[in-house]
Amino acid sequence: MSNPYPLGLRLAGLRVVVVGGGTVATRRVPALLDAGADVLLVSPELTPALRAHVDAGRLRWEPRRFAPGDLDGAWLVQTAVDDPAAAAAVSDAAAERRIFCVRADDRAAATAWTPAVTRHGPVTVAVLGGGDPRRAMSVRDAVRALLSVGQYPGARPPAAQGAPVGGPRRSGAAEGGGPTAGRVALVGAGPGDPELITMKGWRLLTEADVVVTDRLVPGLLLDELRPDVELVDASKIPYGPSRAQEEINRILVDRALAGAFVVRLKGGDPYVFGRGGEELLACAAAGVPVTVVPGVTSSVAAPAAAGIPVTHRAVAHEFTVVSGHLPPDSPASLVRWEALAGLRGTLVILMGLKNLAAITEALIAHGRPAGTPAAVVQEGTTGGQRSLRSTLGAVAADVLAAGLRPPAVVVVGDVVGTLDG
Ligand code: SAH
Repeated sequence: MSNPYPLGLRLAGLRVVVVGGGTVATRRVPALLDAGADVLLVSPELTPALRAHVDAGRLRWEPRRFAPGDLDGAWLVQTAVDDPAAAAAVSDAAAERRIFCVRADDRAAATAWTPAVTRHGPVTVAVLGGGDPRRAMSVRDAVRALLSVGQYPGARPPAAQGAPVGGPRRSGAAEGGGPTAGRVALVGAGPGDPELITMKGWRLLTEADVVVTDRLVPGLLLDELRPDVELVDASKIPYGPSRAQEEINRILVDRALAGAFVVRLKGGDPYVFGRGGEELLACAAAGVPVTVVPGVTSSVAAPAAAGIPVTHRAVAHEFTVVSGHLPPDSPASLVRWEALAGLRGTLVILMGLKNLAAITEALIAHGRPAGTPAAVVQEGTTGGQRSLRSTLGAVAADVLAAGLRPPAVVVVGDVVGTLDG
């Protein structure tokens, strides 16, 4: 058999016909839609996932068996039917019209093969295994592993190659196109387990010239950075909190204006009590392009790691996340604790250990029953995780007795205990 000729098809707006509505079609359709293809699906039946695409108007569905006229105007056909005779009818009709045809049932009879694919930002790697899909997948997996640690030439965007950090750079292509010298990504690092960063966050981290971290960022994520990456630990900045934030903003802007790709890595999600908005505004004011990559927030993940779902059917139809860094009687507090006391659902309090006694007293004084289940989770999702179960009335004393320390979340509500055996 002769070698296949590799191509990247640019399918935006072009008709692609998919024949069949089962699992093969379910797996193939998303990449066709991602490529912008105008997908026509021909099949008497559909899987629920395909039906969801139809319902959302992402593709057109003909609920019947294939007819050769379905191929009029098509550029590519994917057969995703088990019956070889039906598949052959499709590929015969395709060949007559000079349309390439991928066949799920018979690779030898197909005029086109779909490769094993991995995507890494703007890079697409497609592997053909010489007729052996398993070989293609294992090579693809090996390449993906290499890409995921950033260990390849060109891991960084073109502008960043080789130039010293902080030195002048020529402009290069930033993510999304335009020629910009430097840029900033505000990346949520997740709650503590290094595996809980998002795939996009991890990729950007492997591409960074400068990484600015703070206390809550999982140390293991930094372990794998390239040796030439400049690491700035924002928690070591020796000023009060507001000066320190100005200093962080200045570092982000200065490094980016000097041409670096700066990743600002923040614990949990950048916008949940993370001052990500201030950093975004500082960059925007300086004309530095910023992207934000959400993260898994500790307000949901730490309870989950301790076996507490923030909502549960017939138990809680809401969860409220609130900062406890100010005591309830502080004039600077923006939280209406008396209103929160009237809620029935789950209350998740971040930064609340120091003021826990005052907070629980306020909640009880305004009507939340003292017997409401409560829990505290310290260093959730990490090897150092500790947690305790208590009640709203007793939790402040129990935290002291157990010696729990920040970072910790406090969870109040009937969800505490619902999954306990
Ligand atoms: N942006 C972060 C929150 C920053 S505020 C996020 O989305 O998770 C810092 C507070 O988050 C800490 O005081 C603590 O209340 C909570 N926190 C962060 N990581 C935590 C963890 N692993 N376990 C428990 N609480 C955590």
